Amino acid sequence: MSPDRLPDCLFCRIVAGEIPSTTVAEDEAVLAIRDIAPRAPTHVLLMPKRHIGSAADLTEADGPLLGGIFALAAGIARSLGIADDGYRVVTNIGRWGGQTVDHLHFHLMGGRPFEWPPG
Ligand code: AMP
Ligand code: ZN
Repeated sequence: MSPDRLPDCLFCRIVAGEIPSTTVAEDEAVLAIRDIAPRAPTHVLLMPKRHIGSAADLTEADGPLLGGIFALAAGIARSLGIADDGYRVVTNIGRWGGQTVDHLHFHLMGGRPFEWPPG
């Protein structure tokens, strides 16, 4: 088993309350916060409270965690009023994937139209 938290991980420290953030929603396993540098009118980050490096580290056993994350994302989208127009949920993996924080997180973005494919 990997450790539940890494001492020098930014998002582990946010989960622990050592670095301030704006909580949007949370449950036992997941924290959703406002992105500090929003790239859309609504930009929320959903992260497991337990340290997982990226989506590349997920296993079959994480199925319930992922279902919970997507269900929470859908609930947040509804409560923030972006569900009807549609929105995007995305996770970046590794350097070329655009990942800058090595703790699994999903960007929930809405409030404007998005291009496909992303740049
Ligand atoms: P990624 O580049 O996919 O790893 O996403 C990392 C995201 O974390 C970026 O959108 C950053 O703006 C965001 N971010 C970095 N530091 C913080 C912080 N202290 N609080 C909230 N969001 C942050
Ligand atoms: Zn972490």
